Amino acid sequence: MALEKTRALTKKQIETLRMKLLAEQQALIYKESLLTQEVTLTLTNEGDEVEASISDYNNSHLLRFRNREAFYAKKIEKALKKFEKNEFGLCDDCGYWIKFERLLARPTAELCIICKEEAERDEFSNILSKQSKSMGRVVDLSGMMA
Ligand SMILES: [Zn+2]
Repeated sequence: MALEKTRALTKKQIETLRMKLLAEQQALIYKESLLTQEVTLTLTNEGDEVEASISDYNNSHLLRFRNREAFYAKKIEKALKKFEKNEFGLCDDCGYWIKFERLLARPTAELCIICKEEAERDEFSNILSKQSKSMGRVVDLSGMMA
Protein backbone atom coordinates (compact mmCIF):
# COMPACT_ATOMS: atom_id res chain seq x y z
CA MET A 1 0.00 0.00 0.00
CA ALA A 2 1.26 3.45 -0.87
CA LEU A 3 1.03 4.97 2.56
CA GLU A 4 2.27 8.48 2.93
CA LYS A 5 5.17 8.44 5.34
CA THR A 6 4.40 10.61 8.32
CA ARG A 7 6.99 11.77 10.74
CA ALA A 8 6.78 10.87 14.36
CA LEU A 9 5.53 13.68 16.55
CA THR A 10 8.16 15.77 18.24
CA LYS A 11 8.20 16.11 22.01
CA LYS A 12 6.98 19.66 21.65
CA GLN A 13 4.08 18.64 19.44
CA ILE A 14 3.09 15.89 21.85
CA GLU A 15 3.18 18.35 24.74
CA THR A 16 1.04 20.84 22.78
CA LEU A 17 -1.57 18.16 22.15
CA ARG A 18 -1.50 16.96 25.73
CA MET A 19 -2.09 20.49 27.00
CA LYS A 20 -4.93 20.88 24.54
CA LEU A 21 -6.59 17.68 25.75
CA LEU A 22 -6.17 18.69 29.37
CA ALA A 23 -7.76 22.06 28.62
CA GLU A 24 -10.69 20.34 26.90
CA GLN A 25 -11.09 18.09 29.90
CA GLN A 26 -11.10 21.06 32.26
CA ALA A 27 -13.72 22.78 30.11
CA LEU A 28 -15.92 19.68 30.28
CA ILE A 29 -15.60 19.47 34.05
CA TYR A 30 -16.54 23.14 34.30
CA LYS A 31 -19.58 22.65 32.03
CA GLU A 32 -20.59 19.64 34.08
CA SER A 33 -20.53 21.67 37.28
CA LEU A 34 -22.72 24.34 35.65
CA LEU A 35 -25.17 21.66 34.49
CA THR A 36 -25.39 20.14 37.93
CA GLN A 37 -26.38 23.53 39.32
CA GLU A 38 -29.02 23.83 36.64
CA VAL A 39 -30.53 20.45 37.47
CA THR A 40 -30.80 21.38 41.13
CA LEU A 41 -32.57 24.57 40.12
CA THR A 42 -35.12 22.85 37.88
CA LEU A 43 -35.77 20.23 40.54
CA THR A 44 -36.53 22.80 43.23
CA ASN A 45 -38.84 24.55 40.77
CA GLU A 46 -41.08 21.50 40.48
CA GLY A 47 -44.21 23.16 41.87
CA ASP A 48 -47.24 22.70 39.63
CA GLU A 49 -47.75 20.43 36.62
CA VAL A 50 -46.61 22.96 34.04
CA GLU A 51 -43.38 23.58 35.83
CA ALA A 52 -42.91 19.86 36.22
CA SER A 53 -43.29 19.16 32.52
CA ILE A 54 -40.93 21.99 31.67
CA SER A 55 -38.34 20.61 34.01
CA ASP A 56 -38.95 17.12 32.57
CA TYR A 57 -38.22 18.55 29.18
CA ASN A 58 -35.16 20.36 30.44
CA ASN A 59 -33.90 17.28 32.19
CA SER A 60 -34.27 15.00 29.19
CA HIS A 61 -32.67 17.67 27.06
CA LEU A 62 -29.90 17.90 29.58
CA LEU A 63 -29.52 14.16 29.67
CA ARG A 64 -28.99 13.97 25.94
CA PHE A 65 -26.48 16.78 26.14
CA ARG A 66 -24.72 15.04 29.00
CA ASN A 67 -24.55 11.77 27.14
CA ARG A 68 -22.75 13.54 24.33
CA GLU A 69 -20.43 15.25 26.76
CA ALA A 70 -19.78 12.02 28.61
CA PHE A 71 -18.91 10.33 25.35
CA TYR A 72 -16.43 13.07 24.54
CA ALA A 73 -15.02 13.00 28.06
CA LYS A 74 -14.35 9.28 27.64
CA LYS A 75 -12.55 9.90 24.38
CA ILE A 76 -10.37 12.51 26.06
CA GLU A 77 -9.59 10.13 28.90
CA LYS A 78 -8.67 7.42 26.44
CA ALA A 79 -6.40 9.80 24.55
CA LEU A 80 -4.72 10.96 27.75
CA LYS A 81 -4.03 7.35 28.74
CA LYS A 82 -2.14 6.92 25.50
CA PHE A 83 0.42 9.48 26.61
CA GLU A 84 1.27 7.29 29.58
CA LYS A 85 1.89 4.36 27.27
CA ASN A 86 3.70 6.51 24.73
CA GLU A 87 1.14 5.50 22.17
CA PHE A 88 -0.36 8.88 21.56
CA GLY A 89 -0.49 9.87 17.89
CA LEU A 90 -0.44 6.31 16.59
CA CYS A 91 -3.33 5.10 14.48
CA ASP A 92 -5.39 2.45 16.29
CA ASP A 93 -5.82 0.58 13.06
CA CYS A 94 -2.60 0.60 11.05
CA GLY A 95 -0.17 1.77 13.75
CA TYR A 96 1.25 4.58 11.62
CA TRP A 97 1.61 8.11 12.92
CA ILE A 98 -1.38 10.38 12.66
CA LYS A 99 -0.42 13.76 11.22
CA PHE A 100 0.12 16.54 13.70
CA GLU A 101 -2.25 18.84 11.78
CA ARG A 102 -5.03 16.29 12.13
CA LEU A 103 -4.38 15.82 15.83
CA LEU A 104 -4.29 19.55 16.37
CA ALA A 105 -7.77 19.84 14.87
CA ARG A 106 -8.99 16.70 16.64
CA PRO A 107 -6.75 15.64 19.50
CA THR A 108 -9.05 12.70 20.25
CA ALA A 109 -8.56 11.23 16.77
CA GLU A 110 -7.83 7.51 17.00
CA LEU A 111 -7.33 6.78 13.34
CA CYS A 112 -5.08 8.25 10.68
CA ILE A 113 -6.87 9.96 7.84
CA ILE A 114 -6.51 6.94 5.54
CA CYS A 115 -8.07 4.51 8.02
CA LYS A 116 -10.69 7.09 8.99
CA GLU A 117 -11.79 7.48 5.40
CA GLU A 118 -11.98 3.75 5.06
CA ALA A 119 -14.04 3.46 8.24
CA GLU A 120 -16.35 6.21 7.00
CA ARG A 121 -16.86 4.41 3.72
CA ASP A 122 -17.86 1.29 5.65
CA GLU A 123 -20.17 3.33 7.85
CA PHE A 124 -21.73 4.95 4.81
CA SER A 125 -22.47 1.64 3.15
CA ASN A 126 -23.93 0.42 6.46
CA ILE A 127 -26.23 3.44 6.57
CA LEU A 128 -27.22 2.84 2.97
CA SER A 129 -28.13 -0.77 3.64
CA LYS A 130 -30.05 0.24 6.77
CA GLN A 131 -31.87 2.92 4.81
CA SER A 132 -32.89 0.55 2.07
CA LYS A 133 -34.28 -1.75 4.75
CA SER A 134 -36.31 1.03 6.40
CA MET A 135 -37.46 2.24 3.01
CA GLY A 136 -38.90 -1.20 2.51
CA ARG A 137 -40.86 -0.67 5.71
CA VAL A 138 -42.12 2.71 4.54
CA VAL A 139 -43.41 1.15 1.33
CA ASP A 140 -45.22 -1.52 3.36
CA LEU A 141 -46.81 1.17 5.52
CA SER A 142 -48.13 3.24 2.64
CA GLY A 143 -49.56 0.09 1.13
CA MET A 144 -51.52 -0.47 4.35
CA MET A 145 -52.81 3.12 4.37
CA ALA A 146 -54.10 3.01 0.78
ZN1 LIG B 1 -4.29 4.18 10.06
